[in-house]
Amino acid sequence: ALPSIRAHAKHFGKMALIQFDAHTDTYSNGSEFDHGTMFYHAPKEGLIDPNHSVQIGIRTEYDASLGFNVIDAAKANDTPVEQLVAEIIETVGDLPVYLSFDIDCLDPAYAPGTGTPVIGGLNSDRALKLLRGLAPLNIVGMDLVEVSPPFDQSEITALAGATIALEMLHLQAAKLGK
Ligand code: MN
Repeated sequence: ALPSIRAHAKHFGKMALIQFDAHTDTYSNGSEFDHGTMFYHAPKEGLIDPNHSVQIGIRTEYDASLGFNVIDAAKANDTPVEQLVAEIIETVGDLPVYLSFDIDCLDPAYAPGTGTPVIGGLNSDRALKLLRGLAPLNIVGMDLVEVSPPFDQSEITALAGATIALEMLHLQAAKLGK
């Protein structure tokens, strides 16, 4: 996500991040660049504003002092979708949005084919409904990451990833119609 966010920030300026994930990926890890550190680097490089950013589905340890609005998996699973969407939209405000979807936000039952699965995640229906709720936002960039075919079973994860990516493209298509 980091190179993509850098490129988008060059064009759109500082963005809000909406991240679906089991992990915050804000780990410093000695300032290395890897799949768990991009959202440590992105705010430091001035690319995203944590105070207008939301991390959804988190169910692993994280540093709560970094300013992100963390909607952990328990809250994401127990709160009505409409209420979650309202909270996300309020947090983002007027900023352009970068949307990053790590497939491990989904429960391993729905997305087993990923490198660091964590139980207690979102189901795919809830994830789709949350994404659809983001239609009013100015989403300028997006990615879908961490689908790992060698770990997949019966292409369950590939199907989930492809369908979610399509839903994300629908958001962009809806914007063009406005
Ligand atoms: Mn993750």
